[in-house]
Amino acid sequence: MERSADVKPSDIAGRLGRLRPRLSDAGCEALLVTNLVNLRYLTGFTGSAGLLLVLSDEVVLTTDGRYRDQAAEQLAAAGVEARIEVRPTLGAQQEVLASAARQIKRLGLEAESVTWAQQRRFASDAFADAELVPTEGVVEHLRRVKDAGEIDRMAEAARIADAALAAVVPLLGQGVTEREVALGLDYEMRRLGAEGSSFETIVASGPNGAKPHARPTDRRVQPGELVVIDFGARVDGYCSDMTRTFCVGEPDDTALRMVSVVKESQREGVAAVKAGVRGSEVDQTCRAVIADAGWGEAFIHGTGHGVGLEIHEAPRVGSTSDDVLAPGHVVTVEPGVYLAEHGGVRIEDTVVVTEDGCTVLTNAPKESIV
Ligand code: ZN
Ligand code: ZN
Repeated sequence: MERSADVKPSDIAGRLGRLRPRLSDAGCEALLVTNLVNLRYLTGFTGSAGLLLVLSDEVVLTTDGRYRDQAAEQLAAAGVEARIEVRPTLGAQQEVLASAARQIKRLGLEAESVTWAQQRRFASDAFADAELVPTEGVVEHLRRVKDAGEIDRMAEAARIADAALAAVVPLLGQGVTEREVALGLDYEMRRLGAEGSSFETIVASGPNGAKPHARPTDRRVQPGELVVIDFGARVDGYCSDMTRTFCVGEPDDTALRMVSVVKESQREGVAAVKAGVRGSEVDQTCRAVIADAGWGEAFIHGTGHGVGLEIHEAPRVGSTSDDVLAPGHVVTVEPGVYLAEHGGVRIEDTVVVTEDGCTVLTNAPKESIV
């Protein structure tokens, strides 16, 4: 399957301009970006090594010789203006950044990605004259709102996952193992144009389904059992995330009821998503349906999470989340019920928040009996 020709470009070049005004709120004059996902978001650079210094009047990207051409090409393609300095060692890269930041009194670090060892080196060596300010979520906050190009990539990832699932579902009745189903999905997603899976594919049959994040095993899918399949595709860095639960043949009454309760919970959760609603309200909507069915204790995780360049990112959709949903946020709604004797049921969609509701990206049928 060819990548749809009408995937819109992402506005990468505008992001540094939106980041700069946020730095003073974070208590710093400049930000050293060490999180490679944030670095990619701001510049388009996808290498595995790099540091980005965002100053008020200049941007400096350092990397090593492996990425000399790639860094130049990717920043040019994104229209990002930055000084690219290639040095063979991290020490030499830090010297370049120290020189560029010599006038900076308060330098922000990304507290959630800088290691203790790095912080000690920055403080005693590279940036010894500056006050190092721990910041959290500065770039991640911008990443919450996806532009049209980002949403197109996630929609493409979701379409690929839908098609991969349709190709693999017929295998379920043929005595395959969980690992074979997972491998089939991963293969189909790659074949259909995905870069890969957005996380390790979950296929959990029978009792294994009672563990929400079970890894696929050599267990064969048995008639009458529930099978939880949770997976996603990655397109141009962007993830999709979807769960469907199937039953091969006739489920027992409890399994049937689990499926119908989780479906109803998930449907109401999706209906509750719109701009201005808190993550905790969506969680509460899903949880109430399951609690009314008597299974409140069996819904053992949060309702959902943001998705984008990472499979789990802001905003959160859980019982304690004060994050307020806004147009362009992309989140999952994925309630579940897990019972040791019966296995698990989870149903998950990835949705784009709009002013008055949401657009569902994952459209595989929710019919459970195969
Ligand atoms: Zn998932
Ligand atoms: Zn998820």
